[in-house]
Amino acid sequence: MQYISTRNDAVRYSASRTIVQGLAPDGGLLTPCYIPRMTRNALQDLQGMSYQSRAVYIMKYFLEEFSVKELGDYAAAAYGPDRFDTPAVAPVRLVDGNTCCLELWHGPTCAFKDMALQMLPHLLTASLVKTEETKTVCILVATSGDTGKGALEGFRDVANTRILVFYPKDGVSQVQELQMITQEGKNVGVCAVRGNFDDAQTGVKALFSDPELKEELASRGYFFSSANSINWGRVLPQIVYYISAYCDMARDGIVQNGQSVNICVPTGNFGNILAAYYAREMGVPIRRFLCASNANNVLTDFIRTGRYDRNRTFYNTMSPSMDILVSSNLERLLYSLTGDVEQVKEYMASLNATGAYELKEKEKGKLQKLFSGYFCDDRETQRTIARVWREHQYLIDPHTAVGFSALEQYREETGDETPCLVASTASPFKFCGSVLGALGVRNPSDGLDALGQLSQLTGLPAPAPLAGLRDKAIRFRQVTDKENMADAVLSTLV
Ligand SMILES: *Cc1c(COP(=O)(O)O)cnc(C)c1O
Repeated sequence: MQYISTRNDAVRYSASRTIVQGLAPDGGLLTPCYIPRMTRNALQDLQGMSYQSRAVYIMKYFLEEFSVKELGDYAAAAYGPDRFDTPAVAPVRLVDGNTCCLELWHGPTCAFKDMALQMLPHLLTASLVKTEETKTVCILVATSGDTGKGALEGFRDVANTRILVFYPKDGVSQVQELQMITQEGKNVGVCAVRGNFDDAQTGVKALFSDPELKEELASRGYFFSSANSINWGRVLPQIVYYISAYCDMARDGIVQNGQSVNICVPTGNFGNILAAYYAREMGVPIRRFLCASNANNVLTDFIRTGRYDRNRTFYNTMSPSMDILVSSNLERLLYSLTGDVEQVKEYMASLNATGAYELKEKEKGKLQKLFSGYFCDDRETQRTIARVWREHQYLIDPHTAVGFSALEQYREETGDETPCLVASTASPFKFCGSVLGALGVRNPSDGLDALGQLSQLTGLPAPAPLAGLRDKAIRFRQVTDKENMADAVLSTLV
């Protein structure tokens, strides 16, 4: 499999080069030049396999330079019992007769980012060897919460890597901050930035494009790379769990072999739902995608009107990992819909210049044939958490609740009762305050005490990695202004 940029298909990249590089030099996203279709019997063959074996089988289509043995070792390490608290890794839970939930939060940081960030370090370090890179890679991350912790856990003590995470001092939940500043590992660094997520993100982008810093780092034997969701090494492991979930549903008789399903995904950067789209291209019978957003509903409008317009108010919501106005991975869908890099380049230039672009009629038709967009505000999010708990004794987090609300709206509007798989992206215990509030608790406890309170109220155990935070020592207390982030990097990489 070769890879191209979504803005230039004249240059071909190998898989390992694609993973090392992250982004194309022209600013486009490195993407497979076609999506391979699985053989007819693959979905049945996969049903008898473990999650790890399914991962090897599916990823192999895209990673020719990697042997089955290599991929098997990575899958065993990434999805082993010391990392995931269930042998199913990404279990499918039947919520009612035609609604299933794909639980993507059984990994070490209790959010779906683990599904990819446990695999990426293996793919990346092997790719460094395959591309004969001799310098040490330094992963820089700006995070609004889940990605930072996921990347720290994925890269901790991985040979030939360093990882440095910047988070906004007042922009993450207490549990999320504790998760990061207590991070263990010899190659990790964590630094708070005074300001909001945008300040941290803008600062990190400036570090990436600072030529003096780059030169100084090279003299110390380092180079920068990124672990954010535009890296193909993050999208690929996400395709696996959608195919795996369909296999589970067929194996358990929830659907007949070959029967179509809908998939509903709470969406921010469009990475997770894009992986579901690729699963369909590979042969999973998916009829429709429900794209669920919070009050930052730029994608809902895009799907309904064909016009993407980021010129709007930004809202801080109780589903913060979806508080986003520019969904970077959408560019890969645009490439798939148009098949035309020049057209994608035009859209992106327009987005850059004016903050907006508008699809051509034909492309809009293709989009709407497959995607439906819905959104809900925080009140509706909490109402949904309460409803799903009351009706099904099933506890969901605010991001997942946005998905359930979208599904409810879709079914009311269309009457379509096709079996639907909802992606559940975080453990409810990561967002105790909002979940307790949804369940009617007036004065939720602070910080880690809320874990016990939620556990007591619902009879559910808090996930071990969160409960264990109480006993962890704080390792990182550094706070920096956004102008001084380069100093924080240099003092870490001595
Ligand atoms: C990152 C994240 C999302 C959004 O996923 P995208 O791939 O950016 O669309 C949704 N929910 C949670 C809990 C997340 O951490």
